[in-house]
This record gives sequence, C-alpha cells and structure tokens, in this order.
Amino acid sequence: MRFQCIDCQAELSIDEARNPYICSCGGLLDIVQDFRSVDTERLKREFDNRLSERLSPYASGVWRYKELIHPLLPDAFMTTKYEGNTGLYSSGVLASYAGVRSLMLKAQSENPSGSFKDNGMTVAVSHGRSVGYTRFTCTSTGNTSSSLAMYAALSGCSSYVFLPDRGISMNKVLQTLAYGAHLISFPGTYDDGIRFSKMYSEALGLYVCNSVNPFRIEGQKSILYEIAHQLRWQLPDWIVVPGGALSNATALGKGLKDLYELGFIHKLPNVAIVQADGASPFHAMVEGGLSELKPEPNPATRASALNIGNPPSWKKALQYTLKPTQGITVSVTDEEIMDAKAQVDRSGIGCEPASAASVAGLRKLAGQGVIDKDSTAVCILTGHILKDTDSIREYHLEEETKGRFPNSFHYSKLDEASITRFLQTAR
Ligand SMILES: *Cc1c(COP(=O)(O)O)cnc(C)c1O
Ligand SMILES: [Zn+2]
Repeated sequence: MRFQCIDCQAELSIDEARNPYICSCGGLLDIVQDFRSVDTERLKREFDNRLSERLSPYASGVWRYKELIHPLLPDAFMTTKYEGNTGLYSSGVLASYAGVRSLMLKAQSENPSGSFKDNGMTVAVSHGRSVGYTRFTCTSTGNTSSSLAMYAALSGCSSYVFLPDRGISMNKVLQTLAYGAHLISFPGTYDDGIRFSKMYSEALGLYVCNSVNPFRIEGQKSILYEIAHQLRWQLPDWIVVPGGALSNATALGKGLKDLYELGFIHKLPNVAIVQADGASPFHAMVEGGLSELKPEPNPATRASALNIGNPPSWKKALQYTLKPTQGITVSVTDEEIMDAKAQVDRSGIGCEPASAASVAGLRKLAGQGVIDKDSTAVCILTGHILKDTDSIREYHLEEETKGRFPNSFHYSKLDEASITRFLQTAR
C-alpha cells in the first residue's frame, strides 16, 4: 500500500503520508494497492468462509474484504459495528417506475448509523487510532458526522464536528449530538469547513475523517464488493449512484477496478452518477466537455446530502469511475428526487432524499433512451428513511409542498360501520 498524489503523481510510503492526506502541491492523496501477490481463488474462498462469522471483526461487511481494503491494519485497532451486510432488494414496481427490465436496490441505509458513510468511517477511524490519534474531526451536512460520532464513541475517542449553519437535516444533527460529538456550528457552507480543516487540522491534533481521507474511500469500495459477492460475481449492466462530494462514486470505480484486475469479474458495468440540479458542478463539467470543475458557489437542493458545490473527489471520480466504465452523469430536479423517494418508500425499502436521486436519475436516463430499457441495474440507496423526517412531512402532509404520490391520515370514529365503510374504499 502506498500513496500517490492525484495532481503531481508524487509517491509517498504509508509512513510518509500524514493527516489530512494533502500533497505539498495541494492535491489529494490516493491510496494505491498492489494486488499482484493475491491469489484470487484463495481469496474468494476466504470471503465465502467469512460469511459464517458471527462475532469477529470479519463478520463486518467491510472487514470481510480486509485484504482489498486495508491489509496492513492490525486487528487490535479495528473499530467495527458489523457495518455493511446490507440488503440487495429486487423490485419489479421500481423497475417499471424507472423504466428498465430489472432493478435492484442496495440499501446502505441499513448501516448502523443509517448511511453508507459507515463503510468508510470504520476504516478511517481504525486507521487514525492505529497511528495514535484520539481526536477525530469532520465537516458535515449530517451523515458523515453521525457516523464519525458513533465510531469515536464506540472506541472511547472524541469527535469534533464542524456544522454549516444551513442546508442540514435536524435528524442527523440530533443523532450526532446524542452520540456525544462536540458540535461546532459555524456561519458558512460545507466547502468553507473543508477548506478550514485541510489547513488547520494537523496543527490542532485532529484526524480528518472527511472523504479527503483516502481510507474512507478504500472502505467504501466494500459496497461494490458486497453487491458483486451477493450476485455471485455477476454484475448488472448499470450501477447508479448519487454524487455529492463524489467519494462514493470514486469508491465504486476503484472497487470495480480491483475486482476486474483480480479476475473476480470479467466485464465492467456502466456507471451513472446522479447529481441534483441545484448542486451539479460535476455533471455540468462532463456535459460541457470541460477539463476543470467549476465550483457552484451557492449549492441548493432539498437533498441535503447532495448540497455540495465543490466536490473534493471530482478528479478521482473522473479517473476511476467515469472514464473506465464509459460512465455518464445526469442531474435531476428536487421534484424528481422526492417523487422517486416516495416510490422507494412505499415499496417498503425506504431511503432519504439524496438516495432517491439514483432512482430518479435512472428513470430520466431510461426515459431519454440513454440507458436501454432492456437493461438490468442496481441503484445504491445511501441513507435511511428516518434521516430527514421533515422531507416526509413536507411531501405528504403540507399543501404547498405536497408531491405527486402523497399519503395522508384518515379521520374516523372508531365504530364498526365507519371502519367497514373505510375499508371498502381503501386498498
Ligand atoms: C454523503 C451522502 C451522499 C453523497 O456521497 P458522496 O460520496 O459525497 O458523493 C449521498 N447520499 C447520502 C445519504 C449521503 O450521506
Ligand atoms: Zn502533489
């Protein structure tokens, strides 16, 4: 395992690369692993064997794949909560809503803190502890901080969370508060917070756990490994993922590269990255054929987890995911996102708004004929249905913001005749 700068290509050894993993040239450091000595058949059997683990770190859906994620980490530092191990659900109703032949949903919402951030955070916190840190930090619109606060508490460490004072979901903030994080609310945006922690965290003795931390991305590769493992190493035509900071999109491409190079899979699926209209600088860059990302100074989307104007990992997402998979980008309106969320929710799977961008994006691309309607697809659902309860109330119950597929209360007297009458109309 070594580090490489994504801008100047400088290489650093594992001991040279330090928090917050920024090269002297200002570029992000990327983890490069050498799997040449890996025996694929032996590893495949090991991954299968670990499916029967119940009480060891290897029961985790992340650490099951340790050899491909952080082979060097001593077991004593693993801070794990059985993360990963999430459902992969096939839904005919959602396939026809999206307009494709078959659709499965990978519910990262089922992680212990309720989002896919756990897949990466378990690795970042474990690594940070292994190099001596006890104080961890992030800037977050919510899910990163909930996840960090949970793992810090679990390992007896402290977390310091920089919280932009707008565009956040109260559910996530309260979850972070309850896990005992030190919350620092500041006037500004997510992008301001990231800039601050890049500059000062090392001097302040804080280990940065935003997705500029490359161990987060290594951990998030497990989402793709798990999908592939669940499907017996046969991937669908398309994998669709929402894009905010673009760490998850990057991890998806890196995970695909690993499995392809090791011979677990023999064909790469196409990847679609979906952004929200109000925060879509990556899509704008790709669509415009530009070579540099132009940050969006005032990102604005109801999907708070996607409300990021200057995604730190855009170069990695381009290099690892978009180019090798002949991937595409798309952006969708908040209305399309909320309608897709209502469909995912009433299918019994459920997700937060940002997650539903994947389904909304697939539907848009299939509608435009960019994705063939005979395709098979997996959409990654990134966060839990209870992560943003305001959005549910707004969509279903409030006149001004009500969506296309609302549910509501029925008011009735509690007697047999009234309920009988109601049952005749309600299916
Ligand atoms: C963080 C997050 C995203 C965006 O992922 P990136 O890696 O930042 O692109 C999407 N959905 C949810 C629920 C998230 O928490
Ligand atoms: Zn550099």
